[in-house]
Amino acid sequence: MLTWKDVVDRAQRGNLAPPRRVEYTDEEWRARLTPAQYHVMRQHGTERAFSSEMCSRFEPGQYACAGCQTLLFDGTTKFESGTGWPSFAQPATPEVVAYTADHSYGMVRIEATCAVCDAHLGHVFPDGPAPSGLRYCMNALSLEKVAAEGHG
Ligand SMILES: [Zn+2]
Repeated sequence: MLTWKDVVDRAQRGNLAPPRRVEYTDEEWRARLTPAQYHVMRQHGTERAFSSEMCSRFEPGQYACAGCQTLLFDGTTKFESGTGWPSFAQPATPEVVAYTADHSYGMVRIEATCAVCDAHLGHVFPDGPAPSGLRYCMNALSLEKVAAEGHG
């Protein structure tokens, strides 16, 4: 299980090798994503809090990157953070999320990106639930819900 120490370590010293790489030109990303997704995923934007129903839905399933369909989170680690953004305690597998120190807005935060296509996902904070203590504060626009197997 990843802890805050692991996340900080990776942001400072480098991330794990991604399982694969998906790369498109800027023009191709603009064509593949909606304007709102492009803003969040390729320009490090943040969607308005409480703008997605994904925050308050907890049915079983998995969440993939909206840019490259890599499986990023499992619904079993999703929790209600009250922030208005979908929140998870762990990534689906350790190598699919990459971490970078983000010094914007006069703060030091850890930015989370898709390790496969570099899409901006959101930020990670050390105030999540036990046992990991992590809160992956994600933009719903960066994620695609994948139905649980056998549930359609
Ligand atoms: Zn991706």
